Amino acid sequence: MSELEPIIPNIEVTDPRSALFRTAGFAMFVIDPADAKILVANPAGERLFGLSGDAPVASLETYLSIPKSELLNILHRAAEVGVLEIRDRHAPIGDSHRELEFHGGLVQWDGKQCLLSTAFDLSQIHGPNGWSEGTSFDPLTFLPNKDLFSDRLEQTLARARRTNEQFAVLILGLDRFKQLNETHGHTTGDELLKLFAERLRGFVRETDTVARLGGDEFVVLVTALQDVAHSAILAQKILRSLADPFEILGVDMRITVSIGIALYHPELTAPGDYLERSDAALSVAKQEGRNTYRFHTETLDDLFRTEVAIGTDLHHALDDEELTIQYQPQIDLRTNRVVGLEALARWSHHRRGQVTPSEFIGVAERTNLIVPLGIWVLRQACLQARIWLDQGLLPDVMAINLSPLQFKDQQLVADVRGALGESGVPPERIELEITESVVMESMGGYHATLARLRSDGIRFAIDDFGTGYSSLKYLRSFPADKLKVAQEFVSGVPEDRNDTAIVRATIDLAKDMEMTVIAEGAETAAQVEFLRALRCDQVQGYYFSQPLDPDQATAFLKERK
Ligand code: C2E
Ligand code: MG
Ligand code: MG
Repeated sequence: MSELEPIIPNIEVTDPRSALFRTAGFAMFVIDPADAKILVANPAGERLFGLSGDAPVASLETYLSIPKSELLNILHRAAEVGVLEIRDRHAPIGDSHRELEFHGGLVQWDGKQCLLSTAFDLSQIHGPNGWSEGTSFDPLTFLPNKDLFSDRLEQTLARARRTNEQFAVLILGLDRFKQLNETHGHTTGDELLKLFAERLRGFVRETDTVARLGGDEFVVLVTALQDVAHSAILAQKILRSLADPFEILGVDMRITVSIGIALYHPELTAPGDYLERSDAALSVAKQEGRNTYRFHTETLDDLFRTEVAIGTDLHHALDDEELTIQYQPQIDLRTNRVVGLEALARWSHHRRGQVTPSEFIGVAERTNLIVPLGIWVLRQACLQARIWLDQGLLPDVMAINLSPLQFKDQQLVADVRGALGESGVPPERIELEITESVVMESMGGYHATLARLRSDGIRFAIDDFGTGYSSLKYLRSFPADKLKVAQEFVSGVPEDRNDTAIVRATIDLAKDMEMTVIAEGAETAAQVEFLRALRCDQVQGYYFSQPLDPDQATAFLKERK
């Protein structure tokens, strides 16, 4: 052994004290083949191995997935032949597993035969596209890493401050992943992380971000939330999806996750605040039995405080004329004609700017303000319908949303009759949109109310069909004129198989029951074409038009006449 020369003969270069050693951008270190101790590492090596100070004492075995005995054998042989070569695809570095490659040869260090080796982190070199992705991506799952996630969160925060766009941060922790890793080994564990990452990515839109924080923790940033409750719906979807096992090497593996959610709050301006909050919520979800989600509780307090403020202001909004209505066209897919308009309430708050219905309808319901608000919309929409009727522009129906709470109000029938009488619009030109919960109640308390409005000639549509819990039995007991397929499902058409199946079944159901069926929220030509092929009658969505204010709607109606 002793007659072997160092493999790189230029001692000045290979001397660990040389300039190359100190300044190289890649990791170099000297290791004792007898016990695998790292005797010295250059600055890049210290960074890779997370060593600090001038006397790093660490064993190479800590950074490799191979057992110590095997490593000692390799080092032994390397010292004999003068060449070291190791490649480890699952080297546990920091919180993740990396693909490391070592190349080295013999040197003298403190009078001893040692190995001088370089270490390359190949996972940083091959990104998802096979070339360098810097350090923005997690090498195992190719998801964005924490740094890239923080960047995206920062951008979202900046936008939210300008536009008051709502977003949510969901941290997901795989339940008992450590145990699984220990029982089934790292290869299985890594494979599971990859498959989980893939499944997770399937749940979010292009504009959302899924990232891996490290270890068994993932994070999702959901932007442009129409309703903060959608973050809970997403969490439920993810939890439910894990009922399907992952197949790894022919074996079915099951795993559950716990999820912590933090919502946008105007006073929290650092990305770290959101990670902290969702992480705290994740701990609660884990404590409370895992396989569940929790919101950060202060987030809920904040929400409540905003609610109280919104509720107070909503009282004045009606008097101060801050409420308006926009109208969204409904298009017949066979004739391409405008066959309806849906009245959608809008609130321009004197300080907050535009407040969306998803923010204030819920508050209005909880504070019972929905009753006067609903009457206002009803009257206003009827008056507008009258204007269009006189101009010969009114399509078949003017659709108006009714909250379930309005049915609790004894005055509803009188209010509807009042609005019709005042405007002189024939009842069959008004379509009231009700929810599945109202349909269910139609067996009980609301039956008389619905029956009276129906016998007046008013039409009914069931809004957001499929998102409630109605059974077909109830649907049969209350024959509505129209079914509105919820946007939640339409948005998945045609790519998502489940959503497509639901949309198809809803259309068939409506046909069977001789109801008109309309798809809400169609945004793309592909969606519209697909809906047409499924013989869906009508579409309402951004593809044809956003909700329009009365002047814009007038122009739209004239153009499409
Ligand atoms: P909705 O009745 O299901 O109304 C459809 C919602 O989907 C509207 O949101 C509309 O702007 C939106 N939308 C339409 N097409 C598209 C599309 O292609 N893409 C996307 N992303 N969204 C689309 P909006 O106006 O924010 O209203 C939200 C909900 O608030 C309504 O859902 C309705 O439940 C409630 N709401 C609105 N106005 C009233 C009202 O006067 N009274 C009551 N009780 N509820 C109302
Ligand atoms: Mg509606
Ligand atoms: Mg709807």
